[in-house]
Amino acid sequence: MTNKRTVVIALGGNAILTDDPSARGQQQALRQTAKHLVALIKQEIQVVITHGNGPQVGNLLLQQQAANSPKNPAMPLDTCVAMTQGSIGYWLQNALEEELAAEGLPTKVATLVTQVVVSEKDPAFADPTKPVGPFLTEEQAQQMMTETNAIFKEDAGRGWRKVVASPKPIAIHDQASIRALVDNDFIVICAGGGGIPVTESGRGVEAVIDKDFASEKLAEVLEAEELIILTGVSKIALNYGKDNEQWLDQVNLTELEQYIQEGHFAPGSMLPKVQAAMDFVQVSKNNVAIITSLEDLADFDHETGTRIISD
Ligand code: ADP
Ligand code: MG
Repeated sequence: MTNKRTVVIALGGNAILTDDPSARGQQQALRQTAKHLVALIKQEIQVVITHGNGPQVGNLLLQQQAANSPKNPAMPLDTCVAMTQGSIGYWLQNALEEELAAEGLPTKVATLVTQVVVSEKDPAFADPTKPVGPFLTEEQAQQMMTETNAIFKEDAGRGWRKVVASPKPIAIHDQASIRALVDNDFIVICAGGGGIPVTESGRGVEAVIDKDFASEKLAEVLEAEELIILTGVSKIALNYGKDNEQWLDQVNLTELEQYIQEGHFAPGSMLPKVQAAMDFVQVSKNNVAIITSLEDLADFDHETGTRIISD
């Protein structure tokens, strides 16, 4: 039985995909990521790792569509999420095992294909918001919208992406097996891409669960001491990208509520992280959530990143 501090770590897109989308390129990026993670694992912390899959599942959907035929039918989105959990988990597990071995640490790592439960009544199904797949120009997006039923939206000033429904996770279907692995000192990679969305009756649905909310739900059910959300920035900012930009070291729930109202966090990128962090702090009472970058990770006890605390 583990008596270490349990920390759920959510990896952002930049931990997996840099500028080379080949398998080799992503494996290389994950080797760097593994080095940062092992720096934390060395500090006697029991980590449970989740990761995004937006670009990967988007590319997979494109491949599925391109080869679609009666003998080789395109797989639906839930199945594609399962496929990317497998491929990314395989890369990350190998990278971690390699780095752990190099550091002389036990190489107990497990990847779990994870289903996450959503409600069929979730209002998100009426209003798709979750970006999947590559960034397109406005012209390309408009053309796709004319030719198919797909919906495209502008994503935080970075281009246009396809959007699907993003229901809230209400339970982790595989909670018991994740718990068993954690209790036996395994580093667990799970809930990749936010998990495979399934209904309460266990049926897969065409949707994508936000990995930050899924990570929060996981941290909640595992009663983790901390939720760390890693992304492309060291800290969260007020007036992000503007002249009067202000980076936050520590912020409480009341302050964050006000900053959300003032529109400081972009929907679809920083807003879900902030909301997931707030949910975790609220539910777990005095526990802390941290939003920071992978590069700052090993140092997170020394006041890097943004700490989200209760009032
Ligand atoms: P991930 O792949 O880690 O989920 P996202 O691109 O979805 O990353 O979201 C993180 C990005 O959100 C940051 O890299 C930054 O560009 C953007 N962002 C939007 N608003 C803010 C803000 N207020 N403070 C910091 N970053 C912000
Ligand atoms: Mg994101």
